[in-house]
Amino acid sequence: MFIRLKRLLALAFLSVFIVSNLIFAADDWQIIKVSGHDYLSVDNISKFYGLTAKIMPAGEKMQLETVRSPLEFVQSSREVMINGARCWLCFPVIEHEGKFLVTRTDLAKTIEPLLRPQRVSNAGKVQTVVIDPGHGGHDKGALSRYGSEKDFALDVARTLRTLLQAKGLRVIMTREGDYFVPLEVRAQIANAARNSIFVSIHFNATDRDPNATGFEIFSFTPRGAPSTSENSVAPSSLSMQAGTEVDAQSVALSACIYHSMIGHIPEFDRGIKRARFAVLRLTRVPAVLVEGGFLTERGESQLIAKKDWRAKLAQAIGAGVENYVALGVKKQPPMLVADYRRQNKSQPVEFAAPEADLSLVNLIGEAALISPSQPAAETSSPAPQAALPVSPLDSAVIVP
Ligand SMILES: [Zn+2]
Repeated sequence: MFIRLKRLLALAFLSVFIVSNLIFAADDWQIIKVSGHDYLSVDNISKFYGLTAKIMPAGEKMQLETVRSPLEFVQSSREVMINGARCWLCFPVIEHEGKFLVTRTDLAKTIEPLLRPQRVSNAGKVQTVVIDPGHGGHDKGALSRYGSEKDFALDVARTLRTLLQAKGLRVIMTREGDYFVPLEVRAQIANAARNSIFVSIHFNATDRDPNATGFEIFSFTPRGAPSTSENSVAPSSLSMQAGTEVDAQSVALSACIYHSMIGHIPEFDRGIKRARFAVLRLTRVPAVLVEGGFLTERGESQLIAKKDWRAKLAQAIGAGVENYVALGVKKQPPMLVADYRRQNKSQPVEFAAPEADLSLVNLIGEAALISPSQPAAETSSPAPQAALPVSPLDSAVIVP
């Protein structure tokens, strides 16, 4: 009797869920025109995905906040937390007639592939991983007192190759040693390989802020949109390139790798970004460019100089690639930052300084080997419901 009641209740609950979804699917997306551009309300997006969405006041430092909601937009900003990772919209959230609005471009090109990478067509279809260690030869890349970007990138790439090969993936390196390969040749290598993905490994540098730290990852900027570093649409972004058919796959790959990076290693989360870097523009396969920390920041440059830390970075990127590949098999949401952090809690990794590093540290009078970790942005990882209505990419919302 009790079991029957429970079953009845479950059925009632399920039918309410289905009916509410049907009702919602019926009125679907409500496009709001503002100055000739198409927007959707945050409420509409939240309802469609069945996920709570928050609007954070502008200027609030989101990195100091505990992430409480799978979707956290920032007023008048392009910054958004999606499933616990920072991401950057192409256009800022605007307020219009009492509603917060997001552009149609961002819904289709950013939010959908980040929230449901498992639904991106051909996501996870990978035969070959093309690893691209940035720079090389005369092009040293960024420099720290411990070494140059070209060498650190090559070391991470080599470890990553071994890890991916051990998982049965075919790997091609755009360079095997310390020599320069033109950017277009790197892209050609990826384009020539069957069902390949392209992962470019770099380290960051800036002369504007010596305290800048953290990870970031880039995929190609959609047509008509500014890159994350640009504040407005440059004429070049409208005419320069046609955009690519693999945009959504690249964003899905970004999400898989980035969640693993910030889930494994407690560096600051600078976010999932867009850029028109040559290697991203010239590749016609899913492509990302990873920035594994700043060589211009004291603490981070010390970490990057440690071989075991670089191995950990390679492992994190490798786990992300594996998760992307799994999308093609399981069609299930990938692991998120909170999942990785939970997994790692049972087996915390310490980056013990080798003897040589210790003496070097003493020599330069450094006390801390590891930069203070950022407060962990914990979030539950709500798996987007499988029974949701059609993807916005399938509906009228898609941007031509
Ligand atoms: Zn670089």
